[in-house]
Amino acid sequence: MDTIRIQLNNLLDTEKLGRFLGETAGPGETICLDGDLGAGKTTLVQAIARGLEVPENCYVTSPSFAILHEYEGRIPMYHMDFYRLQDVGEVLDLGFEEYFYQRGLTVIEWSKRALEILPEERLTLELLQDGDERRIAIIQATTLFQKRVQNILEEF
Ligand code: ADP
Ligand code: MG
Repeated sequence: MDTIRIQLNNLLDTEKLGRFLGETAGPGETICLDGDLGAGKTTLVQAIARGLEVPENCYVTSPSFAILHEYEGRIPMYHMDFYRLQDVGEVLDLGFEEYFYQRGLTVIEWSKRALEILPEERLTLELLQDGDERRIAIIQATTLFQKRVQNILEEF
């Protein structure tokens, strides 16, 4: 799996990245987001939603209590947050893996907490805080996402 590292200098960079990820996302794809609280995962998901044409008035919040929020856009976005997950079995009990290969894009915050059940084809971004507004994104792409990662590299 290829790993790249890019620098996001401010909120605008994060929004640009998220929008690109949303615009280029296809049905049944999975994007995994990791990194500490406040790293910018939910912020990135909000931009992904804009790229997917989820209406502007549809406010995207972290689903840490509900664990899953669903939004209608060009294709649906299934936003999951595994922060409060006790164990992987819970994801299976809730039937979340059934969303993975449907017609929407699945975006998962704290994906590492359920590594065992993630789809093999996935784009993983780990966000690291590097100052007030600067973030480092460590991006890992399986085959399906490699071309997109090339495009990201050219832009950042
Ligand atoms: P997480 O979901 O990882 O806990 P949030 O997206 O909820 O993080 O919070 C990130 C916070 O950091 C927000 O208040 C956001 O405005 C701020 N922030 C500042 N700069 C950036 C950036 N470059 N990218 C993402 N968030 C940023
Ligand atoms: Mg969050």
